Amino acid sequence: MKVPVGRFAPSPTGPLHFGSLVAALGSYLEAKARGGQWLVRIEDVDAPRCRQEYADDILATLEAFGFEWEGEVIYQSRRSARYREVFEALKRQGAVYPCSCTRAKLNEAPAGADGAPVYPGTCRAGLPPGKAPRAWRLRVAGEIDFIDLVQGPWRQDLEREVGDFVLLRADGFFAYQLAVVIDDADQGVDHVVRGADLIHSTARQIFLQRQLGLPTPAYAHLPVAVDATGAKLSKQTRAAPIDARDPAAALVAAARFLGQNPPEACRRASADFWAWALENWRLSRVPKVLSQPVEEHS
Ligand code: GLU
Repeated sequence: MKVPVGRFAPSPTGPLHFGSLVAALGSYLEAKARGGQWLVRIEDVDAPRCRQEYADDILATLEAFGFEWEGEVIYQSRRSARYREVFEALKRQGAVYPCSCTRAKLNEAPAGADGAPVYPGTCRAGLPPGKAPRAWRLRVAGEIDFIDLVQGPWRQDLEREVGDFVLLRADGFFAYQLAVVIDDADQGVDHVVRGADLIHSTARQIFLQRQLGLPTPAYAHLPVAVDATGAKLSKQTRAAPIDARDPAAALVAAARFLGQNPPEACRRASADFWAWALENWRLSRVPKVLSQPVEEHS
């Protein structure tokens, strides 16, 4: 039987924080507890927001915590030639088109499922006269259904809830949606475990996989850690980095957040935690919610 290939794909916009530790841990245990492989990919495709020192810091923290990944770490910033090749193929198929809309213009449209404006199709039939191309968008159609291994059945009407989405950005960088689909396929990832904020992107990714004739991985979206006010803990909101001097305590807190029940003794040493976790991890115990506060679990 084929063993799962999972991955952790952090964007190096800050040091590892509790929310990203949860995604690292969930993806790791789901792959490793089933005898599978776990890869690490640095998602620095959005170069202006990313820094090498954060990538180094994230990798050093993962290592200090006892995570073991397979093979080389892939950096998206080094893969633009590959993204370009796939993008050109989509262009030849007529699947993408240039768009001249400015951000201000796009923000006039009503917001969709993930809070971003739904693209109203302004440039779908051709650029308005005298307008220059800025971004390139993928033409979408229809509904996408999938069964998330944590959140259950999920459906998104791409045209109504998202609209044609950007694959090549106005600033010349390829979009996350394109990079993630190509990378997961090229790396043979068939088991994507990540934060539930990305569940709103999954239909886009499945649509793009189909467009490119690529297989669709299984998806499991873990609850996102929020603070007492309901705001996502993120590197941008300067969530405190996790305490790298006490990995066992942070790992136990992350496991509890994911509905697992490690004994207190696991706090003594990370080796004790890993021995317990690899035996006892159950995806079925992960709370079936999109977000939950951290305090209750740490
Ligand atoms: N790079 C994304 C992030 O750090 C994760 C993307 C993914 O797991 O597909 O939020």
